[in-house]
Amino acid sequence: MVQEVLRRTLVTWLILFLERYIMITLQGKSVYRDIGIGRLVFYRGRSETVRRAVEDREAELLRFEKALQAAKVQLRKLYDESVKIVGEANASIFQVQELLLEDERFTEPVRGMIADQGVNAEYAVRETGDALAMELGAVEDAYVRERAGDILDITEQLLGVLADREGEHGLPEEPFILAAEDLLPSETVQLSGRKVLGLALGKGSTHSHTAILARSMEIPSVMKLGALSAEYDGRLAVIDGYTDMLYIDPDDATLVAMEEKKRETDRHRALLRELKGKKDITRDGKLVKLFANAGSLADVDAAIANDAGGIGLLRSEILYLDSAEEPNEESQFSFYRQVLQRMSGREVVIRTFDIGADKRVPWLKMEKEENPALGMRAIRLGLERPKLLKTQLRALYRAGIYGKLCIMYPMITSVEEILKLRQLEQQVKRELEQEGMLFAAFLPTGIMIETPAAALLSDKLAKEVDFFSVGTNDLTQYTLALDRQNESLERFADPDHRAVLRLIEMAAKNAHDAGIWVGICGELASDTAFTEEFLRMGIDELSVSPGMILELRHKIREL
Ligand code: PEP
Ligand code: MG
Repeated sequence: MVQEVLRRTLVTWLILFLERYIMITLQGKSVYRDIGIGRLVFYRGRSETVRRAVEDREAELLRFEKALQAAKVQLRKLYDESVKIVGEANASIFQVQELLLEDERFTEPVRGMIADQGVNAEYAVRETGDALAMELGAVEDAYVRERAGDILDITEQLLGVLADREGEHGLPEEPFILAAEDLLPSETVQLSGRKVLGLALGKGSTHSHTAILARSMEIPSVMKLGALSAEYDGRLAVIDGYTDMLYIDPDDATLVAMEEKKRETDRHRALLRELKGKKDITRDGKLVKLFANAGSLADVDAAIANDAGGIGLLRSEILYLDSAEEPNEESQFSFYRQVLQRMSGREVVIRTFDIGADKRVPWLKMEKEENPALGMRAIRLGLERPKLLKTQLRALYRAGIYGKLCIMYPMITSVEEILKLRQLEQQVKRELEQEGMLFAAFLPTGIMIETPAAALLSDKLAKEVDFFSVGTNDLTQYTLALDRQNESLERFADPDHRAVLRLIEMAAKNAHDAGIWVGICGELASDTAFTEEFLRMGIDELSVSPGMILELRHKIREL
């Protein structure tokens, strides 16, 4: 009996010892590639809400209305502070949230619950916010799904106002790694003044506003870590944003290795910063156009911050995915004009909408397809519904007077498609002229080489357009018959596949024979293992995500 008790005590003690001192390794998804080393501090943001019956429903409604106004004022303050930290475009998240606070899908059910059920405002806000977030979270479209986080954010802010606890975080002043199940955008941006060495989230999504903010605040961050227990509070941890890992209680070897990696990263970052303002030129004098890919004004700001020579691919479909209805000509014109004005004279290639495949737009009511990647996508949709494409072309030609704009068409497979597009362009310009509108009389137009058909016909296509840009993401998918959405196929995706590289080389040669420039805007453009080969093929432009610009400049200048 005594022996049994002793054995159990020993086992329990051993488990506690192992848990406490053996390194715990968790894998997630990295948002910002850097190393963070520090003590974990658990953040418990979400407050408990209790249901109460209220006697005076009118007074409770008034309390809610006042909280609504106060939350708006708070969001405006947050926006102003955020502009200084993460720039205007990223800060606009809080303008969107201010609009959400006015959205009747949120406010009306809250008012209804208070008036009909006589419950307290806190309870009505929490119930409504959770229900709406759940509804949005179940939507197929990834962008709409992400907005669930904004609903939860405004819910928390309203609850904060109702409880009169503005800006109370209870976080230490000394440097730490913040750990939480999830973090709201408004909470993330308020971390900036503190010494946050890293961010470790159990849930989260790499496309969420929280992720965007963490990235632009350059916080080493890993999300989707799963089992993050508050028991780890106060323990030493390392975030390795390069390998998506979180180590808790790192052993000596890991700690030493990570400290060295951190020093190396800091040295490399400093070296890259030195490259701002330098030319993208090889040692033997070949100048390369090093441009950035963008989908939003935040990306455009990031492109400028990273010293991109221009925008090589602006994915305009984001405007359509972002909207509950067709974005009208004026809103598109205003967006394109802002992009051109921000790039102040630098070249901007705007791709006409690439809707379809994985980018579904509910308001377009497109038919369900068995194989959407091979279906009604991009330019096929544009030619099938010319009104939609004409509206975009009108906005583009009008914006064209504000900078150096090029139009690019996606998913081209034949010369006939280009001839049809030329007719549309002529029609659009004629109409704008008849209406007395100001517009650019000539805009260079190019195509994406992202189908094997386009690469194989590139000699013919090159005679019809002003430039090519190779979309290696789709070119790889269609050449290797490998669904880019299917994560389980990733191990078959060989970036070094000679079939894809031969098609790129063929397109580059045919472009040059016809006297036009050729770039690459797919992900392969940022793989520095291929830079030398691409330049040997004669590629004139590489367009990559803003964060990769200086890395690639470093590579180009070494060649
Ligand atoms: C590509 O296919 O490589 C490309 C750049 O376009 P997207 O990734 O938007 O399809
Ligand atoms: Mg593509």
